[in-house]
Amino acid sequence: MSVETGDQGRHQEVGHKSLLQSDALYQYILETSVYPREPEAMKELRELTAKHPWNIMTSSADEGQFLNMLLKLINAKNTMEIGVYTGYSLLATALALPEDGKILAMDINRDNYELGLPIIEKAGVAHKIDFKEGPALPVLDQMIEDYHGTFDFIFVDADKDNYINYHKRLIDLVKVGGVIGYDNTLWNGSVVAPPDAPMRKYVRYYRDFVLELNKALAADPRIEICMLPVGDGITLCRRLS
Ligand code: SAM
Ligand code: CA
Repeated sequence: MSVETGDQGRHQEVGHKSLLQSDALYQYILETSVYPREPEAMKELRELTAKHPWNIMTSSADEGQFLNMLLKLINAKNTMEIGVYTGYSLLATALALPEDGKILAMDINRDNYELGLPIIEKAGVAHKIDFKEGPALPVLDQMIEDYHGTFDFIFVDADKDNYINYHKRLIDLVKVGGVIGYDNTLWNGSVVAPPDAPMRKYVRYYRDFVLELNKALAADPRIEICMLPVGDGITLCRRLS
């Protein structure tokens, strides 16, 4: 996959949600398989989020569909999400879980979560969510003792410079055979850009952390991994032991 580095390059466009080389192909996926099957609540939340000034942060509809399918495939019940924003991936998760399923959801910003919350409530899945406002790392540290090996699935979509620190804790919190999904591991395609390539400031800042994470995950014998070019890249890690 090549990287377009100029300002005119479509993979650098704000809000572009696919690493596919062809926009037409991505539209085809969305229009053929994603939008026609997107639950009404997710559509509503996606459209609400599109109007928000930080909408670049939201998960794409195809990623939401992927997460929803994955959670059903692994029969996930007890889950965690780090990085909620307005809750698009959270809603995809909540809709996939059984009635007694649980999501521990963490974000430093409650306002954005509350923006999407009425839609999540209307969808009848808010009872599955335990939202904690604040940085995730100290919460994980508190949990290590009592929640060892309890999570079926953990989705990490927050501060990329902390992913390695999250991994050190999450590997204990996820159960053996459970899955951690790290989001944005292809980081706008910048992971293969030459160091002097023009990049948006935040892309350049977090790039080294993403590169470091990808190396660390590939070398970690405690997990099996699979890096998927869905959305901005998602790396699935299955805990082995
Ligand atoms: N998963 C969300 C979705 O599908 O729309 C997108 C999450 S957005 C990319 C990243 C979120 O991480 C932001 O809402 C931000 O407030 C949150 N965040 C940043 N640093 C954090 C931290 N230390 N602990 C918890 N959340 C954090
Ligand atoms: Ca993301």
